[in-house]
Amino acid sequence: MRSPPRSHWNPEVLMLQKFVDESCKKPAPLYSTPAGKECPVCGKRSYSLRGIHPQCAVVQADAPRQAALAAAKRELAQTQAPRRAK
Ligand SMILES: [Zn+2]
Repeated sequence: MRSPPRSHWNPEVLMLQKFVDESCKKPAPLYSTPAGKECPVCGKRSYSLRGIHPQCAVVQADAPRQAALAAAKRELAQTQAPRRAK
C-alpha cells in the first residue's frame, strides 16, 4: 500500500510550515536608525569609536603636511624653472 504524497496540501506539511513560520520570526529592531556615525571625511557609516574610519583619520591628519609639501615643491619649481631654461 502506498503512502499519501507529502505535497503542499498535506496537513502535516502545512502544520510543520506554520510551526516553522511562527517559531523563526526575527525580533523587531530596537532602534530604527542603524548604529554608528557618519564619517566626516568619506560620508559613509563608521562603527569606530570616534565615528571616523582609521584610514580617513590618516588622510585628515596628513592633509596639512601634504599641502606644505606641495607648496614647497611649487615654490622650488618656480625658482628652478628659469635656471633650467637657459
Ligand atoms: Zn571614512
